[in-house]
Amino acid sequence: MSLDRGKWATGGPETVAPGVHRIPLPLPNDGLRAINVYALEESDGLVLIDAGWSIRESLTVLEASLIELGHRPDDITDVYVTHIHRDHYTQAIELRRRFGTRVHLGVGERPGLELLTTLRTDVPVTSLEVLRRGGAADLAERMAEGYGEFDPAGWEPPDRWLDAGTLPLRHPLRVIPTPGHTRGHVVYLDAARGLLFSGDHVLPHITPSIGFELGQPGLPLGDYLDSLELMTTFPDTRLLPAHGPVAASTHSRTGELLAHHDKRLAETEDALGSGARTGHAVAGVLPWTRRAVAFDGLDGFNRMLAVNETVAHLDVLVARGRATVSEVDGVARYSAGSGLQSCRSLS
Ligand SMILES: [Zn+2]
Repeated sequence: MSLDRGKWATGGPETVAPGVHRIPLPLPNDGLRAINVYALEESDGLVLIDAGWSIRESLTVLEASLIELGHRPDDITDVYVTHIHRDHYTQAIELRRRFGTRVHLGVGERPGLELLTTLRTDVPVTSLEVLRRGGAADLAERMAEGYGEFDPAGWEPPDRWLDAGTLPLRHPLRVIPTPGHTRGHVVYLDAARGLLFSGDHVLPHITPSIGFELGQPGLPLGDYLDSLELMTTFPDTRLLPAHGPVAASTHSRTGELLAHHDKRLAETEDALGSGARTGHAVAGVLPWTRRAVAFDGLDGFNRMLAVNETVAHLDVLVARGRATVSEVDGVARYSAGSGLQSCRSLS
């Protein structure tokens, strides 16, 4: 990876359109390097898209960046968050506590947030269930350990749950639900100026994880692919992502992501053809990350995401009639083919 590739994370605030500023904020782990929040100048203050991960360094950088832009944190009237993940949401609650900022979040995140505040744990219990179903019970046991005491501070509910609609800002923003990365993920579209605040739905350099959240797993990759297709139904825009630099075309990146998942579905199907039967086994023979790392070369957290993502691909193959599944002792076992063929060959 060239140095240039990470410059977006460390270069300070960047004005991407008149009155629209990209502010990269630090994260406590460097896997994603940073998160972009976007500050929009309104007549009565500032609106933020996403808020960052609530850690002291993040708030310090946010304050310094706003001052550099001629503003202050208490100018922020509202934060519109793209999804419930910690690096996007928790600092919004901190801003509300300090400055009375109003917090808005897609209504599809409500069950996940309610489950989190009921279970009161940082353990990603749904992802661990998917791991067990994927035949990786040992990994699930290991991943359940090592979590400290749950801190509810960042997980208070928003002031308002957002439905699809239009926010009456100086430059109106359309709220578009894009389930997949999480089930309540939304993007914000400024159609007049050709800007898409894409959160983690469309990222310029990486493919977002799928369904890392609490609640019924459903068919998150199927939802995600539908939400990608949805992007192509709007006129093309610049892409203002939560991780990575601003890019020229949402459509071209959406096309690359759809192509990536087509290829991934084909590789997953091939792995079934060569005898792998479970999510864990299939994940073990697929290459991971842009650098094609072997599964065994990933750390535990990324192995968990990898098995979850593989199960998501396998479930889409089943939904599309390209594979079949049966459960044995709580583990899903997949086979290539439609099942119809095996019925036919039996008859
Ligand atoms: Zn996320």
